[in-house]
Amino acid sequence: MLNYPPAVLMEERIARVRFHMAEAAVAAGRDPQEILLCAVSKTQTSETVRMSAGMPVDCFGENHMQELVAHHQDGAYLGKPTHFIGHLQTNKVKKVVGLASLIQSVDSLRLLEAIEKEAAKQGVMQDILLELNLAGEESKTGAGMEDLWPMAEQAAALPHIRLRGLMGIPPAGISSDDNRRYFANLRTLYTQLGEKYPDLPIDTLSMGMSASYKEAILEGATIVRIGSAIYGARDYSRKP
Ligand SMILES: *Cc1c(COP(=O)(O)O)cnc(C)c1O
Repeated sequence: MLNYPPAVLMEERIARVRFHMAEAAVAAGRDPQEILLCAVSKTQTSETVRMSAGMPVDCFGENHMQELVAHHQDGAYLGKPTHFIGHLQTNKVKKVVGLASLIQSVDSLRLLEAIEKEAAKQGVMQDILLELNLAGEESKTGAGMEDLWPMAEQAAALPHIRLRGLMGIPPAGISSDDNRRYFANLRTLYTQLGEKYPDLPIDTLSMGMSASYKEAILEGATIVRIGSAIYGARDYSRKP
């Protein structure tokens, strides 16, 4: 096999993801431009992140506060928006509020309160999504279904939090049909959320990863979160 330079490989992978995104959007009768490609850069170096930031990705998703802070300090995102998508501990909220334009992974009332407090202190409005765990036991992050409406009620009432929608992660290794069912359920809840809170800007449904973004777009995703299909297999020995 030829030894392509990393930038060529990455460019090729991003083009392929973009092509499949557009294809799924058109199949669903949607405008491809309304779907954001969020590059999930966890475990990548600032150099790699910077390389991808110069390519057609819309935003970045980070799971770890330390990586988010380090890449920002290195200027690696080239000014593109960054989203927080990992489990967020309340003691890390200080650093994430203000750096992440969207916190996608809000999964408890306690976390909502901590974000509100920090956003008030910094004098900013923090956009958030509520992360739901529809799969029950099988996944470790996200709030249970029973927590959705109390969290939405609370988010709507907090002055420095702006609720934009929902995020979900399907269980690993399920079939394409099961992914679609999972995404369809999340979309139904997202629609209900918009109906229940007509005064909130509910416009963001984050679902779909490297193995499932086509199904997610068919079911209405407005953000797909793509890691390995852009960067290749992750090397977890680099995890902080
Ligand atoms: C790692 C991760 C992704 C990307 O996963 P890939 O399968 O590599 O595309 C998306 N969303 C979240 C929350 C993640 O942690």
